[in-house]
Amino acid sequence: MISDKNTILSEHNDTAKIFVNHLSKVYPGHTAVEDITFQVKTNSIHGFLGKNGAGKTTTLKMIAGLVQPSSGYIHFGEQTNNKYRVGCLLEDNPLYENMSVYSFLHFMRKLYRNTDKAVVDYALKAAGLVSVKERFIAHLSKGYRQRVGLAQALTCPSDILILDEPTSGLDPSSVVEFRELIKNLKSEKTIIFSSHILSEVEALCDDVTIIDQGKILASGPVNEIYQLISHQAIFCVELEIKGQSLKEEISGFLKEKMPSFHFVGQDRYMLNYYEEKNSRFNQSFIKFLIDKEINVYQFFEEKSDLEDVFLSLTNHRGGRL
Ligand code: ATP
Repeated sequence: MISDKNTILSEHNDTAKIFVNHLSKVYPGHTAVEDITFQVKTNSIHGFLGKNGAGKTTTLKMIAGLVQPSSGYIHFGEQTNNKYRVGCLLEDNPLYENMSVYSFLHFMRKLYRNTDKAVVDYALKAAGLVSVKERFIAHLSKGYRQRVGLAQALTCPSDILILDEPTSGLDPSSVVEFRELIKNLKSEKTIIFSSHILSEVEALCDDVTIIDQGKILASGPVNEIYQLISHQAIFCVELEIKGQSLKEEISGFLKEKMPSFHFVGQDRYMLNYYEEKNSRFNQSFIKFLIDKEINVYQFFEEKSDLEDVFLSLTNHRGGRL
């Protein structure tokens, strides 16, 4: 089903693990999450994508049972008596810094009422912490503290893992390492992974739910989400533009298509604009460039990525979905 503002792809899924149904959270004077419905497949990595304040954390906390929904409900694929159905790495990753990694993980295991002591060794291994297990958490780098946050979530007797912006604030190599750890967990866990970094969701996730201002804009397999804008394309043109007035003339010509200019060298600019595929607009634009005797160095269509989908759905680039 594809509709204007709440696009759920592959609506019914027998292999789903988590069903979020018409969930809302209203704070006094403010609706953080409004009537959202989506599903998370078993043993998948499900990206939860949205800008700051979109409602990601509120939704994830409702799924984890940490925030009470105002309305709607969450249903897990199979019922379990365990109160701790979801292992969570929250955005602020609270840790007891004066404990060793090993002691902290046992402490968390007990808090989760997990009687399986071997889970600590499993968590240490899965989070790449074996070599630092005796170290105090206070003495670890941010990247390793984040791994401790992941490991404590793994001591929860649950096959659902919620990771709220887990790579936020990590250096690039720690980000890559952390993503690898998450990928390796996919065969054992159903993972919801929130982020505002589109390339990260694209690299890691099977499915994605895009949320904006508390509402879902689209939800489904990443490759199906691309098709939402398959009728549109981004065109890139590298031009030589001498003088402000010529730049303004080009902007005027493209004004409905929201062009962006990037300076790339001496009088050279890279220009991006959105256009319907197979439209005649490019012909008229090329004619305009020839008439103005503007030097063109490159003219090509850019491959769509999640960022385009996101910007198109949130209408920041003139998308019409
Ligand atoms: P970020 O990436 O910045 O963490 P987010 O997508 O996780 O953003 P939320 O933290 O879920 O967004 O917040 C959604 C909206 O709800 C925001 O406008 C936020 O200010 C508001 N909000 C969150 N928690 C509360 C609260 N306890 N009381 C009132 N408003 C809240």
